[in-house]
This record gives sequence, structure tokens and C-alpha cells, in this order.
Amino acid sequence: MSKKLTPERREALKKKLMNDLEEQVDTYLDWYDSIEDIKFRDIENQVLETRHQIGAQLAQTLVEEEASGQATALRCPVCGGKLQRKGKKEKVVVSLAGEVRLKREYYYCPHCQRGFFPPGPDDGDGIGME
Ligand SMILES: [Zn+2]
Repeated sequence: MSKKLTPERREALKKKLMNDLEEQVDTYLDWYDSIEDIKFRDIENQVLETRHQIGAQLAQTLVEEEASGQATALRCPVCGGKLQRKGKKEKVVVSLAGEVRLKREYYYCPHCQRGFFPPGPDDGDGIGME
């Protein structure tokens, strides 16, 4: 399995997520600190709310990561070489529901001299060759 995060990028993402978690834990403890005569039901509700917030932050972070195209070390599916990012290009996909125009990040392999659209969340057909 190939990895798409460089160690530096992974570390940056981890740092951001840990900061988010720490914020949520502080909010949780602040809440606890401010409530007198606490009931189990109160804790239960606060845990659900905290869990929701943490889940949203985990999702948002990776959605932004995907959108930023910062995931690096994408490899050529033919030779395994490092792909160069070439900006966004439009790809027309003929789907069962008709033609769909997708703005996709476009990559180029200098070794194979071919371009690729890597798979994204909106694309179930694997890596698309141009
Ligand atoms: Zn290649």
C-alpha cells in the first residue's frame, strides 16, 4: 500500500488534530467544572455533544486535506515514479446518469510522459488515465 502523506505532512495534520482534541477536552472539563449537582444524564449529553464536535473536526481536516491537494508522494500507477502536480483540469466522465464534468487535480509522470487523474471522493473507477 502506497502512502500519500510525507512524514512532515502527517506530523502537521497530527498536530492540528491533537490541538483540536485538546480544545474539545478543555471545553468538556470547563463544562464539568461549571455544573453543580451533576447527573449521569448531563454527562451523557455532554459526551454526545463532544463526540459530535470531535467527529466533525476529524472529518473536516481530511476533507480540507483532500481539497488542498497537499497529499504528496502520489505514485505513477505504471512505473511507480513520483507524479508532478499540474493543477486542475476538467475531465468528462460518461456516467449512467449522463456526462459529468469533474474539475480534478491533474498529475504528470515525467518518466512515462503521461498524465493522470488520481481517484478522488467523487470517482469510484480507480485512477483515470488520460
Ligand atoms: Zn510513470
